[in-house]
Amino acid sequence: MISVFGSANMDLVAYVAQAPKRGETVTGHGFRTVPGGKGANQAVAAARAGAPVAFLGAVGDDGFGAEMRATLSAAGVDVRGLREVPGPSGIAHIVVDDEGGNSIIVVPGANGAVTGPSEDDVRTIAASQALLLQLELPLEAVVAAARAARASGVQVVLTPAPAQPLPAELLDAVTLIVPNEHEAVAITAAPDPDSALDVLLERVEEVVITLGSEGALYGSRSGERLRVPALPVRAVDTTAAGDTFVGALAVARAEGLPPAEALRFASVAAALSVQREGASTSMPTRAEIDAALL
Ligand code: ADP
Repeated sequence: MISVFGSANMDLVAYVAQAPKRGETVTGHGFRTVPGGKGANQAVAAARAGAPVAFLGAVGDDGFGAEMRATLSAAGVDVRGLREVPGPSGIAHIVVDDEGGNSIIVVPGANGAVTGPSEDDVRTIAASQALLLQLELPLEAVVAAARAARASGVQVVLTPAPAQPLPAELLDAVTLIVPNEHEAVAITAAPDPDSALDVLLERVEEVVITLGSEGALYGSRSGERLRVPALPVRAVDTTAAGDTFVGALAVARAEGLPPAEALRFASVAAALSVQREGASTSMPTRAEIDAALL
């Protein structure tokens, strides 16, 4: 089983030829609400990629919260650890342009009320093969979950997004960190992804840096280095590419695949997702990933 302790947001997605600049009003050509948030996205991605998944987090007492719970359940995610707290659910306001690029504002809502894993959460985490974490919950809650996992010998996979300074107590509890290239450079102050990989390996056992359409870099403290190409596909919406990649990567690792094969599995899942619009709705099923791997 894979546990995800993280955010659930309703994504409010507007499609527009070109994103508006400050002071500008533009007319879009589409709008939809899609259940998202990095935590929920990674949970759905991992469940669709074929693993039992438990989601631990919070939604508000509004319609968005009910919809997110239903969506996670429908994807096969165990939502017994998804609390309902008074007030609004988290939202992400997303603008997608005609080139498939995006810009995002996250308002935490109920996610901001999560102060740490509950006793039940800690039991769920301890029974997992891996815990997936992101930085859309309060930092002290993320640190507490990471430490609970490490205390039980559970692998901790951190997506350090949105990028921010990472306290040593968090990095010490992380076994695999998966930033995109912008996050990697922001966190380490290194000039490029290759040097960021070296800096991160000083603190974390394994590192994957995703490079969008350029693929991904992998490094481990045991000295292994890999560069995995992305699949040549036409991207229409890259909103949840990284979350799809991480969810699928966690599943492949939990199934015991070595790094090169696990990265290929994740790259195929992410490439399938960028060819469709939306976040959780764009994630491929195990059957789709297996068919594309052939
Ligand atoms: P994030 O969504 O976190 O910014 P990236 O943009 O680096 O992350 O994408 C994560 C992974 O998704 C990449 O390593 C790659 O495998 C895949 N991916 C992203 N964009 C594309 C693309 N245009 N074509 C094919 N694969 C892509």
